[in-house]
Amino acid sequence: MRYARALIPTLKEAPAEATSASHVLLIRGGYARKVGAGIYSYLPLGLRVLRKIEAIVREELDRAGALEVLLPALLPAEYFQETGRWDEYGDVLFRLRDRKGGDYHLGPTHEELITDLARREIRSYRDLPKNLYQVQTKFRDEPRPRGGLLRGREFIMKDAYSFDVDEQHASESYAAMRAAYERIFTRFGLKFRIVAADAGSMGGSRSEEFQVLVQSGEDELAACLQCPYAANLEVATTPPYPRRGPSLSELAPREKLHTPGQGSIADVAAFTGIAATSFLKSLLYVAGEQLVMAVVRGDHAVSEVKLARALGVSEVKLASAEQVRAATNAAVGFAGPVGFTGRLVVDRDAATVSDGVTGANETDYHFLHVAHGRDFEGEVADVRTVVDGDLCPECGATLGTYRGIEAGHVFLLGTRYSEAMSATYLDEQGAPQPLVMGCYGIGISRLVATILEQHHDADGMIWPAAVAPYAVHLVQLGREADVQQAVLELERALEQLGVEVLVDDRDERPGVKLKDADLLGMPVRLTLGKKSLESGGVELKLRREPGKDRTRIVALSGAAEHVSELVQRALREASPSEAA
Ligand SMILES: [Zn+2]
Repeated sequence: MRYARALIPTLKEAPAEATSASHVLLIRGGYARKVGAGIYSYLPLGLRVLRKIEAIVREELDRAGALEVLLPALLPAEYFQETGRWDEYGDVLFRLRDRKGGDYHLGPTHEELITDLARREIRSYRDLPKNLYQVQTKFRDEPRPRGGLLRGREFIMKDAYSFDVDEQHASESYAAMRAAYERIFTRFGLKFRIVAADAGSMGGSRSEEFQVLVQSGEDELAACLQCPYAANLEVATTPPYPRRGPSLSELAPREKLHTPGQGSIADVAAFTGIAATSFLKSLLYVAGEQLVMAVVRGDHAVSEVKLARALGVSEVKLASAEQVRAATNAAVGFAGPVGFTGRLVVDRDAATVSDGVTGANETDYHFLHVAHGRDFEGEVADVRTVVDGDLCPECGATLGTYRGIEAGHVFLLGTRYSEAMSATYLDEQGAPQPLVMGCYGIGISRLVATILEQHHDADGMIWPAAVAPYAVHLVQLGREADVQQAVLELERALEQLGVEVLVDDRDERPGVKLKDADLLGMPVRLTLGKKSLESGGVELKLRREPGKDRTRIVALSGAAEHVSELVQRALREASPSEAA
């Protein structure tokens, strides 16, 4: 492709609203343009990346035996009504009405539609297993679309759905998809962790996220430094701490301390000289109809997901200041478990605090020398978030906390949708049985941005070879006849070897061209001009090796073969071993 004929509208500045690296670079590099909040157009370079991502995903899913279908994006309301999600989805659903007054919506996900297809077309155990996938545009009216392609209101996903005769076979389908995902993310050149996620809210039995590790990620996770254990921070676990300090019988009597205006643990810790680890932090939550007090150690945070699980409710919400005052007769900051009459949940590591400090349920007062089992009783459960340095529940090594972007999700759904929609097959005895399902998503358009979040520097994008719009960016410097001829021959030689090349033949200053080459991020940069010809050929530089000293001159004869070999090697390095 010749740059002068291409559509690559690079910009010096990105719009002020672009804060993530990928958002800035995709706009500056002319890969994408905003059309509305969370709605983007792909320009030719952006579309090439998108198509390459799709191609790798298709290749690996086909290899895993999945079958591609294409369901509609415009959905009659009846399918979501059947499972209750027409109401559950609320404002996230883009709803519309046709000329006859019928209710429709744009698909945010396709479990209902695929389950409907399965109940019509899958008759008997002989038709199973089946795994159906599609690459489809999805619509969600996100309250806060952000990050360019990271969280849009219109986005492209690959969604797959497996159907099996029972849980065990469904687990095998799940494992096969998980393995396919590992291959896919490895081929994209991503550093990622497979993270246990909260399966509870969707009624499934197993759920894992593929989290791409980047500082800008909005998800928090904990991962072992030694073994594969990783979990979303909200559900990560760690072994309970051993009990330290005095036993209940040795503990000094409880003492009330005047702490005027000191409602935070930091204030009281400074005032008393007692470390935050000896505090019993008490927070009030609304859980359904109940007001519940959760107690964690002063240096820990309540995991609302774990608390909801411990209470057997779908979610909990922090109580308002008025609710706290009504329940404790004290201002926020002075609540405590001693004398609290409502439901009380005590974290395992708060229950082993042997000489604690806590709010006295009286404004401006705290208690000293408080311990669970003597001064108060509560249900003991794991309700805190793990912290950096906690121990791995699998191997005992240290856990680290990371930020990530969820780029894929595998989910063992069980029979939630098949039971709600009566999707059954006939077993060997001819009896109807519910289909056992799994669902598996990959955010295709989000990946364009996610890959960039991990692969860029101050000068621009650094595309992995597998998804780069072009493998080679050939910069022509000068318009002398021998330069033009050499560029043309090199371009043809590369194309004959199947190497995709973008030739910058624009009438621009060298500085502008080289800056654009860095910004656009093709893996191999070739620079050809009078100077390089005099040095014996064409200058070669790999984008992932920044710095002027990394350039080298390659003789024109054999340059195309050399570059082709470089590109092939980059692809091989990123490809997962066949044994995997
Ligand atoms: Zn471990």
